[in-house]
Amino acid sequence: MTYTYVIGMSSNKISFEASLTSEVIEAGKCVSCGTCVVVCPFDCLELTKEKPGLIKECKICGICAQACPRYQWTAANVENFVFGRERKPEEEFGIHRRMVIAQTTEDRISKVSQDGGVVTALLLFALKNGFIDGAIVAGTDKEKPFYPAPMLATTAEELIEAAGTRYSCSPNILALTDMLKQKKTKVAFVGTPCQIHAIRRMELAGLKRHTRPLKLLIGLMCSECFTYKGLMENHIHGKLGLNLGDIKKINIKGKMLVTTGSGVTEIPLREIKQYARKSCSVCDDFSSELADVSVGGLGLDGWTFTIIRTEKGEELFSSAEKAGVLRTKTIDDTTYAFKLLKKLSRRKRKAIAGS
Ligand SMILES: Cc1cc2nc3c(=O)[nH]c(=O)nc-3n(C[C@H](O)[C@H](O)[C@H](O)COP(=O)(O)OP(=O)(O)OC[C@H]3O[C@@H](n4cnc5c(N)ncnc54)[C@H](O)[C@@H]3O)c2cc1C
Repeated sequence: MTYTYVIGMSSNKISFEASLTSEVIEAGKCVSCGTCVVVCPFDCLELTKEKPGLIKECKICGICAQACPRYQWTAANVENFVFGRERKPEEEFGIHRRMVIAQTTEDRISKVSQDGGVVTALLLFALKNGFIDGAIVAGTDKEKPFYPAPMLATTAEELIEAAGTRYSCSPNILALTDMLKQKKTKVAFVGTPCQIHAIRRMELAGLKRHTRPLKLLIGLMCSECFTYKGLMENHIHGKLGLNLGDIKKINIKGKMLVTTGSGVTEIPLREIKQYARKSCSVCDDFSSELADVSVGGLGLDGWTFTIIRTEKGEELFSSAEKAGVLRTKTIDDTTYAFKLLKKLSRRKRKAIAGS
């Protein structure tokens, strides 16, 4: 297998131990995205118990450090790379072209989606019309309810099965390996802001073999990810006594809402804050500012707040809208969802500025 990297990579040779072990993992900043594992050209790394680690001696190529979203990260150069400019101070939730609330027009999607089903509807439309030949999403572990498992979905059935939100970390970047093995050439990627950062950094580092097939990045808005053990096993099952297998849906609308066959259990967010991953406290991006299209629930009922940021994102979204796959409504800056978007974006930036 041959690897081609951009000129200049060799000047950044640093070992995994000197870069990611000491400055990212031990510093509690690792988001367990799996990027270092996937890009290592010598297969030296493995993700075990949500942490990357060496399984053989590091060859000191420095590629993992160049792609890691938490090692010497600055958004400005990535913004320049994606949008040709940096965001202005008034662009509080990043550079964008258009903002709408949207929902799927298909019942089979709205029955299983988290909010308005925009993600699944866009992916289905893209797959059916040949824009993509696969999508990297989060499936669910067969044994553990709501435990996310990265997957490369290549059929409508798989995309529908993967709809909805699992509030624990899903290292979706690991599924790039399947994308390469299956020789897919047109793939959409769905992920949290940190995972979108990782993909953009891989693009910036010239890791073309991994990034060339990626045609669309859909970024999920994200306040934080919770540990599965803390949230699902200790709290929802252990403390509240709910059987995890009976849960039909978990959503956050001001509080966490856990739906089972016998009703909805409400959990105040202050009770579950303790299960948030430590690495989320050093994230300043709420709305996936570097994605092609960003989506979130933002307190809406049955609609997805959708921010279209790039030309690619606009092309696909408009085609889906014209085809009647999505219905949309305009929003203005007086709506609750818009104000919440600004508030949550500011809160994340402030937390970092003050840390
Ligand atoms: C950890 C997490 C935290 C979030 N926090 C917020 C928040 O604070 N505020 C807010 O407004 N929105 C938040 N969201 C986004 C929100 O839950 C919905 O994903 C979004 O509104 C899109 O809804 P939809 O109906 O269009 O998506 P759907 O059509 O239901 O599709 C959702 C897609 O997300 C993928 N997915 C599910 N879980 C994960 C995961 N853990 N990691 C990566 N991909 C996944 C699915 O495979 C599917 O492709 C969060 C999402 C996640 C995963």
